[in-house]
Amino acid sequence: IHPAMEATTSLLDAAAVGDLVLLDPLTEESLLQTLQERFRRSNIYTYIGNVVISVNPYRSLPIYTPETVQEYRNCNFFAVKPHIYAIADDAYRSLRDRDRDQCILITGESGAGKTEASKLVMSYVAAVCSKGEEVDKVKEQLLQSNPVLEAFGNAKTIRNDNSSRFGKYMDVEFDFKGEPLGGVISNYLLEKSRIVRHVKGERNFHIFYQLLAGGSAQLLQQLKLRQDCRHYGYLNRESSGLPGMDDAANFRAMQVIGFSPAEVTALLEVTAVVLKLGNVQLSSSYQASGMEASSIAEPQELQEICELIGLDPAVLERALCSRTVKARNEMVLTTLSVPQGYYGRDALAKNIYSRLFDWLVNRINTSIQVSRKVMGVLDIYGFEIFQDNGFEQFIINYCNEKLQQIFILMTLKEEQEEYVREVPPTHAGPPLCCPQCGILAMLDEECLRPGVVNEDTFLTKLNQLFATHKHYESKETQNARRVMDATLPSQCFRIHHYAGKVTYNVTGFIEKNNDLLFRDLSQAMWASRHELLRSLFPEGDPQKVSLKLPPTAGFQFKASVATLMKNLYSKNPNYIRCIKPNETKTGMLFTPELVLAQIRYLGLMENVRVRRAGYAFRQLYDSFLQRYKMLSPRTWPHWTGSHREGTKVLLEDLAFPPEELAFGHTKIFIRSPRTLFDLERRRQER
Ligand code: ADP
Ligand code: MG
Repeated sequence: IHPAMEATTSLLDAAAVGDLVLLDPLTEESLLQTLQERFRRSNIYTYIGNVVISVNPYRSLPIYTPETVQEYRNCNFFAVKPHIYAIADDAYRSLRDRDRDQCILITGESGAGKTEASKLVMSYVAAVCSKGEEVDKVKEQLLQSNPVLEAFGNAKTIRNDNSSRFGKYMDVEFDFKGEPLGGVISNYLLEKSRIVRHVKGERNFHIFYQLLAGGSAQLLQQLKLRQDCRHYGYLNRESSGLPGMDDAANFRAMQVIGFSPAEVTALLEVTAVVLKLGNVQLSSSYQASGMEASSIAEPQELQEICELIGLDPAVLERALCSRTVKARNEMVLTTLSVPQGYYGRDALAKNIYSRLFDWLVNRINTSIQVSRKVMGVLDIYGFEIFQDNGFEQFIINYCNEKLQQIFILMTLKEEQEEYVREVPPTHAGPPLCCPQCGILAMLDEECLRPGVVNEDTFLTKLNQLFATHKHYESKETQNARRVMDATLPSQCFRIHHYAGKVTYNVTGFIEKNNDLLFRDLSQAMWASRHELLRSLFPEGDPQKVSLKLPPTAGFQFKASVATLMKNLYSKNPNYIRCIKPNETKTGMLFTPELVLAQIRYLGLMENVRVRRAGYAFRQLYDSFLQRYKMLSPRTWPHWTGSHREGTKVLLEDLAFPPEELAFGHTKIFIRSPRTLFDLERRRQER
């Protein structure tokens, strides 16, 4: 027998069908049951055509061994069990043999397994491409960049102990033989507010705990750090260690490939500065004029920071406690109140850290090599719905909404292309639009508007703009529409995302979008003798003082998402859609309601329908003939003509209605799963 196509061998066992396109009947329940049944049998991967659905097993499965890699190497996508390796192999081979740039889009909510999936793809590709000293070096660099980026960019959240708090897109570049030459990593909006604040039960970025737990006594002394993380205001005072995560070991194992020892030291020094800034305390005093002013409460920490970065403590103190403002063409130094002082301090810590993170990514990218073929892997934060949703969630969900749009557009495009290539064309669906672009634009407008600007005026404008938008709600639009709803507080607006309704609290939107750092603070940083730190604040150069406001956080993010979408759209997409089966990170536990919600917002039903809109099943003529030729005396045992002709003859003999079939150039298309079931049944009866 021909190698079993899982898709078809298990057809008769409908509960375990490996490709949901073949589900019959197709309902939400049958889809859910199939995923559950497969999950119960440890089949965590399921296809929708060439899209892979992955359900997080939360335990290690023996399916990532070198033997498994061999099994999937050059396999026929449908000849082996659904696996993430199959999609990685398919993408890699199209890249190598058909010269099509690929991208792998990994989506799903936090904790669903995206980051693990991206690592599996990378390690598969690394394992199958050829060996050699040069190649090994590149592979090592690409894979080794992970731990460092995760240390600086990941943190424990309530949903995921190792949650990515930045978006990552990695283009791996290949030469014409399909060997990796290098890569470029792009990062998207690090959640920098975490530096200064995080909710109970979560942690700050891993690196801080790792450094304190794993750094040698000598290193900590050099960085002027204390080992006990409870000493630091920015770190969670209650819980620090995490079960199953050895901070100290992770720190010691971390290798920053290609960095000089001096660069590593500089990196850690700046990290230490961030941590120590959180311990700089301010106290209030009153000036002779009666104005409130702030001053440094306890100079020790400030002193040490300045020693680390080579700066006169008086300069930093002045920048933290006062601010230069322009009044009637004159620059005057005004004092800051204690809350203003803390605001500036926190803004500085956030800015140092996020710029350091960008620097880290760029530094890793200096191994860039230019070549023709590219495989991109996108692992970006998943859709987030919390009790309290702020600017960060808004931005993250905006990005997910865009990804969902591009997913639909690209699936349609791909279907379209295949039909156009193979059979008569159909038409694509309508393009989608979302209110978020409008909201970001309005936010920018408010941030740049002179005069009194606050979240109330912002919300009022939104209410005007979206008074009749059906995906927007607020207290005001509800009142206008006479809707009674106690769940929507007055300082909130609600968006109907594809993934569900999310209520956003506008508090903090203006401040976070402005992302204001007092110029005195950037100038102080630029004045330090610490080369790395200094390079992070180019705007602090007094020669380069520009009066133009820097672009807002929302604007920058929108621009980088737009670039990303363009980049993705130019490539051949491969999808991995991750599902989180339970809320408790428990091995092999499947909570149907939770999965159903994700099936809905990942749009899996539509996905299956789109795939099926034309033809549920398609297969190359030779594989098809090979499998079914026994059903016709004219094609059995040998058919000497072309595979296409043979398939025609075979199907003529079986007398299927002609509208069920379409004969493409290279593939046979079968419209409904029933026809395929029928074929399978006949085959088994033989
Ligand atoms: P995300 O990036 O989607 O937020 P992660 O990839 O970090 O989620 O996965 C969260 C956790 O789930 C991982 O730390 C790991 O323990 C577990 N996990 C994810 N995928 C797998 C897998 N394929 N096999 C075993 N465990 C997994
Ligand atoms: Mg992740």
